[in-house]
Amino acid sequence: MKDIVEIKQFMCEKCGSQFCGIGTLKKHLESHSRIKQKEFNCDTCGKLFLDKGKLKKHQYIHLNVKQFECFVCGKDFYERSKMKRHEKTHKLKDKVIA
Ligand SMILES: [Zn+2]
Ligand SMILES: [Zn+2]
Ligand SMILES: [Zn+2]
Repeated sequence: MKDIVEIKQFMCEKCGSQFCGIGTLKKHLESHSRIKQKEFNCDTCGKLFLDKGKLKKHQYIHLNVKQFECFVCGKDFYERSKMKRHEKTHKLKDKVIA
C-alpha cells in the first residue's frame, strides 16, 4: 500500500484544458455541449431544457394553467386539444359497444 496522494488532473478531451476536480471539468464540459446542443431557456425561472417540448410542458407550471382532465379515465393533459382528442377515443369505444 502506497501512501502517496495522487493529485489527479482531469483533462478535457475536447480542448485539452486541465482541471484539478472532476466537478470543474464537468462544468467546463457543459460549456462545450452548450455550443453544440440547442438549449431552450425558460424565461420565467431560467431553467434550461434540451427539448423544446419539455420546456413547453414546464412552462405550464408558471402559467398556472389548469390541467385538462379526461372525465372518463381522469388522465391529465396539458393541452385542451389533446384532451379532447383523447376523449374522442373513449367515445369511439362507447360507440363500438353500443
Ligand atoms: Zn474543454
Ligand atoms: Zn420555469
Ligand atoms: Zn380518458
